[in-house]
Amino acid sequence: MDNPRELPKRQHCPVCNRYVKPSTRYRIYPCEKCVKKAVDDKGHRVGFFNITLDGHGCQGKLLDSGKLTRSRICFIKDMSFEAEEAHFGGIVLRPIPKPNKRTVKKKDSY
Ligand SMILES: [Zn+2]
Repeated sequence: MDNPRELPKRQHCPVCNRYVKPSTRYRIYPCEKCVKKAVDDKGHRVGFFNITLDGHGCQGKLLDSGKLTRSRICFIKDMSFEAEEAHFGGIVLRPIPKPNKRTVKKKDSY
């Protein structure tokens, strides 16, 4: 069942370029060290946790004040990420494409 040839050989953290564990499901995710540097839109350090002990749900928390936050958006350096419940339990941060990049093709509109 497991085909090792389908696994990516190497995977990097998109923020610092450090090697991370290759994942076929999450091709781009930041390393642990960068996750710890995540801040919210006001620059407060923020972390994300599962809501239940068996690894479901996703709750943001301001690490300095201990306040819960509803936002799942966080920033590491100048990249933005959205936290979500990971498939295997725990939390994964997924990169949000920058809106100012003009990559949208207008082929299908009008
Ligand atoms: Zn990193």
